[in-house]
Amino acid sequence: MASKPLGKPDTIETRLFIDGEFKPSLSGKKFDVINPSTEEVAATVCEALPEDVDSAVEAAKAAFPSWSGLEASARADYIFKLADGVEKCLNEIGYLEAITMGKPYLAPPYTWVGRHTVDVLRYSASLAMDVTGESSLNSPEFVNISLRQPFGVGAAIVPWNGPTFMLANKIGPGLVAGNTMVVKSSEKSPLSALVIARIANEIGLPKGVLNVLSGFGFPCGDAISRHIDIRVISFTGSVGTGKAIKKASAESNLKKVVLELGGKNPLIVFDDADLTHAVPAAAASVIANSGQGCILTSRIYVQQDIAEKFIEGVKNAMIKIGGNVDDPTEKTTRGPQADKIQFDRIMNYFQYAKEQGLELRLGGGRARSKGYFVEPTIYTNVPEDARIMKEEIFGPVVCINTFVDEGEVIEKANDTEYGLYASVFTRDISRALRVAKQLEAGSIGINATATTKLDMPMGGWKQSGDGREFSKHAWEEWTEQKSVFIKL
Ligand code: NAD
Repeated sequence: MASKPLGKPDTIETRLFIDGEFKPSLSGKKFDVINPSTEEVAATVCEALPEDVDSAVEAAKAAFPSWSGLEASARADYIFKLADGVEKCLNEIGYLEAITMGKPYLAPPYTWVGRHTVDVLRYSASLAMDVTGESSLNSPEFVNISLRQPFGVGAAIVPWNGPTFMLANKIGPGLVAGNTMVVKSSEKSPLSALVIARIANEIGLPKGVLNVLSGFGFPCGDAISRHIDIRVISFTGSVGTGKAIKKASAESNLKKVVLELGGKNPLIVFDDADLTHAVPAAAASVIANSGQGCILTSRIYVQQDIAEKFIEGVKNAMIKIGGNVDDPTEKTTRGPQADKIQFDRIMNYFQYAKEQGLELRLGGGRARSKGYFVEPTIYTNVPEDARIMKEEIFGPVVCINTFVDEGEVIEKANDTEYGLYASVFTRDISRALRVAKQLEAGSIGINATATTKLDMPMGGWKQSGDGREFSKHAWEEWTEQKSVFIKL
């Protein structure tokens, strides 16, 4: 008999978490979540509808005065305890992510994801006493102070590609700053957020402070975006949905909307780069999470005279780290795409590339007959205006083009509506900084890909977003400012 996968819980929580209690949706409606490795039902989950959003907001509203009235250090204590609880449950959380969206959790890079979830909660808690305003004595007859205060009820809507750590990115600073929260997980991966809710209950987080809903973008996410009593919403997901949320906010109460959106991230390799480092780094940044990451690499520009060597190297590295797909509850580093919708999208891009006669260097197809596994794929010499150069594919797919000089590659790298992440590989530090300065993106990796650090702001330029996560800028997003003028 096969042994039980590590972290597999005896029971899986599938109800909504409202006002400190797990309960079914008011309508009794449920939906199936499909395991992308087996194409079988992983869980049947209660579906939140607008009336459940109302209940969650009611609970959060009632909890706000006492939660925001606590000493900041007391709020931080709860979040430290939440982090401790999450740390003990990382295998369970990993298992639930694996059976819903296919993320492998027993080997790197998931080990980073688990660590990050805990660290971001602890980091947010550690900043609790820093949520302060400013003061000014610049007018002789006045002492002026500015206050930083929570909004009230805040909301978080998260995607499926990092169901737990992206939730932590939002509830950490949101709760520490004194807001109470309603969060909606993705319909593709709703289970791990319910573990966070369970842990919140176990550590005694006051009821109503955190409410967790499972539901679809429409109607649940839309109802959150339009809710008159929600004053701030932090969203991570696609550009289209970000725009829909902003529109819904504008049509309702003009709530503050923080957006972390998609990317079409370029990686530039100059001919003096250390290829023993650049090649595996580039390949890993295409393959990680099966390419389903907003800051991963999807366009590579390599300087012409090293192009062949580099492309061959990346191809071999992608086969090595990305070719070995397996069930993500086993010790593999590569699982399937998250669901049939994502899988079909990628197959459509492959079909498009075929029809356009694009140059395929690796892959370009399905990796297994069962489960939504995709081959690591490379296209080369792709026209700059081709759809696969412009649109976020969200698969283990990369386009590699060549360039001759610096000015040309900067122009090409910036020729996108996205601006989330860009990477530069060179041994020349002046060139690295000169290029970094000209690239239009919220984060730049120099001889690094997809790197973020908790004490550095993270967010997008252009249509990749609005607002920042991590660093003290994260809690700034979760607070209103108030200036107070005191006449002497
Ligand atoms: P998505 O936009 O389809 O869904 C994200 C969330 O929004 C889900 O919970 C979904 O149910 C909800 N939603 C959908 N329609 C909605 C609506 N009309 N109103 C309110 N909520 C709605 O995105 P996805 O496919 O889940 O995630 C992948 C996308 O997320 C990619 O574009 C990726 O680049 C982006 N992403 C960005 C970051 C970042 O930090 N910038 C991080 C991870 C993912």
